[in-house]
Amino acid sequence: MRVLIVGAGVAGPTLAYWLRRFGHEPTLAERSARPRQGGYVIDFWGAGFDVAERMGIVPGLMERGYRVREVREVSASGRRIAHFDPRIALDAVGGRYISIARSDLAATILDSLEDDVETIFGDTIRSLHDGSRVLVGFASGVEREFDVVVGADGLHSHVRAMTFGPEGQFERRLGISVAAFEVDGYRPRDELTALTHTVVGAEVLRFSTRDDATIFSMIFRHESDVPVGDQDEERELVRARLSGMGWEAPQILKHLPEARSFYFDSASQILMPTWHRGRVALVGDAAACPSLLSGQGSALAMVAAYVLATELRDAGGDHTRAFSAYRSRLASAVRVKQDAAIRLGAAFAPQNRRQLLVRNAVLGLMGIPLVARIALGRSLRDPIELSPTPTT
Ligand SMILES: Cc1cc2nc3c(=O)[nH]c(=O)nc-3n(C[C@H](O)[C@H](O)[C@H](O)COP(=O)(O)OP(=O)(O)OC[C@H]3O[C@@H](n4cnc5c(N)ncnc54)[C@H](O)[C@@H]3O)c2cc1C
Repeated sequence: MRVLIVGAGVAGPTLAYWLRRFGHEPTLAERSARPRQGGYVIDFWGAGFDVAERMGIVPGLMERGYRVREVREVSASGRRIAHFDPRIALDAVGGRYISIARSDLAATILDSLEDDVETIFGDTIRSLHDGSRVLVGFASGVEREFDVVVGADGLHSHVRAMTFGPEGQFERRLGISVAAFEVDGYRPRDELTALTHTVVGAEVLRFSTRDDATIFSMIFRHESDVPVGDQDEERELVRARLSGMGWEAPQILKHLPEARSFYFDSASQILMPTWHRGRVALVGDAAACPSLLSGQGSALAMVAAYVLATELRDAGGDHTRAFSAYRSRLASAVRVKQDAAIRLGAAFAPQNRRQLLVRNAVLGLMGIPLVARIALGRSLRDPIELSPTPTT
């Protein structure tokens, strides 16, 4: 089967890997001229980790990732308010856990394709004509035919808009925005420590990475439309929100103009009654974005890509059957993750002082190893079971 996958983020290359392994012929098309950099540091575990293991990329992830020693909440003056050791979570999941920059995860997956998958950078699709095959018109002017097309083009999926209609009908806004940027040479560093400073309505996080870099991320309540796509306005919004905060916020802001990567988006979820129409399907954030607040977008995207590939393998060329089975296997797990993300909103960006105090008290309790073990053990249980390792 010839499959066009639009988007080479996390879901797209994972799907390409598995389709190739099952004997299909995937083509990846990515709008950016090169793999996209930037983004936050994610915690990677559960079924997503299992998929990575089956792809043989866990050693690469471990090499590029971090074993965080401390999560520390600080006051406006930098005093430690609460802290815990997340390695306790490692015990709970038998060491199958790593914190890794989103761009390193994406790069590791892409590297696993080697030269085995046709990958087109700097091009996207302009038209889709779904018939006995799909006739695809590329922005570059090229026209090609594929058996199926899969949109893996993220939260603001173009494939979804072309096939199902405007984003607004599927987007659940959470009233929260997220920014992440990376700077070189920032001091202090606090190796392997995730530092957070939280006030009513916003949280800023600092994590030092290799090569003397530091990733900052910021999560803040923002009810009105966000200027996604206009970097000047996005940076201005971040500046406006950070400038009112204590701790290192003023110093972090000074580094914003020299950031070597900058990511900004709304923390939205995508809820759709179906993930396919005709020969076109969606995967990852394009189909079912759980939002940053779930901490699960990338792992879920990998799991969804894997499940879609196995269903296409098992359906003997019947793409409709494969697409339906793919959704039935994942829909309830996606709902669980999306609902959990909404509950977590108060932890990242508390709406009032009471929520802030409760949040910090809970973090304080996590400093007690037994409490952390029970709480993290419970939250690290994944509602998704993968089918046995494929032999093909
Ligand atoms: C650079 C970057 C930084 C990120 N940082 C964060 C973060 O800090 N916090 C957070 O919550 N989430 C972040 N995300 C989103 C996060 O990666 C996803 O939630 C998750 O990994 C799911 O992966 P995905 O493959 O479905 O989508 P994504 O990882 O978003 O990948 C989608 C890919 O599709 C490409 N694409 C988009 N439109 C088109 C098009 N029309 N044609 C071709 N290609 C297209 C994009 O360039 C991207 O490479 C980031 C995404 C990117 C691309």
